[in-house]
Amino acid sequence: MLNISTPVTDTDSLTKPQYEVADIFRLYGDEYQRRYRLSFEQSQVMRDVLECRTTVMGGHVDACDQCGGLRISYNSCRNRHCPKCGSLVKAEWLERQKEHLLPVHYFHVIFTIDHAFLPLARVNQKAVYDLLFHSAADTLKAFGRRYLGGEIGIMAILHTWGQTLTEHPHLHCLVTGGALSTDRQRWRSTTPDFLFPVEKLSAHFREMFCQGIAKLTFPRKSGQRVKTKYTFSEEIL
Ligand SMILES: [Zn+2]
Ligand SMILES: [Zn+2]
Ligand SMILES: [Zn+2]
Repeated sequence: MLNISTPVTDTDSLTKPQYEVADIFRLYGDEYQRRYRLSFEQSQVMRDVLECRTTVMGGHVDACDQCGGLRISYNSCRNRHCPKCGSLVKAEWLERQKEHLLPVHYFHVIFTIDHAFLPLARVNQKAVYDLLFHSAADTLKAFGRRYLGGEIGIMAILHTWGQTLTEHPHLHCLVTGGALSTDRQRWRSTTPDFLFPVEKLSAHFREMFCQGIAKLTFPRKSGQRVKTKYTFSEEIL
């Protein structure tokens, strides 16, 4: 907790919008939580956004070494969903992802699932999203072997909302425009404008996803892990 009586020079106030998401949460958050059941992560987001840059988070003082002037700021929550912190967290995340990029051209492939699966996904997020990742990765890798005779590289990111903020789980995949030959001696590049035949790709994905859904046994207790073939680094944005 901060307890300093010097006036705070708040540079943010110049650009501050009239209402912040935190204000809306403060006014209607309790009512919303009573009416809709939030997951643990969702209520954590709400708490973080509410407490971001308030006394609850504690603060720090920056002193100017020229004039000795003090600037007091409250600490940020650093939750990626927070409108105040999100852009910084995002920029840092992007920087880290750049290290994984190979000096080749990439394709952007998006996998979506039928909205009939939404209720199932909503209460079994771990299992269904795992399956989404696996079906997409297996499909792409199988096509890499079939059409390029080697291993492709994939980076996949799950979005659970569409652009209009409606529920719309989809996977953005960055796929290398080429594959490493099985003997690991050669890079087999694709042409810049063609990766795989899209209809065959989506048919294969649909088949894998639907077969997977049929086979899924959902854990009885929440939090229990479903066994999967791959381990994905669960860094999220
Ligand atoms: Zn100064
Ligand atoms: Zn924040
Ligand atoms: Zn998206």
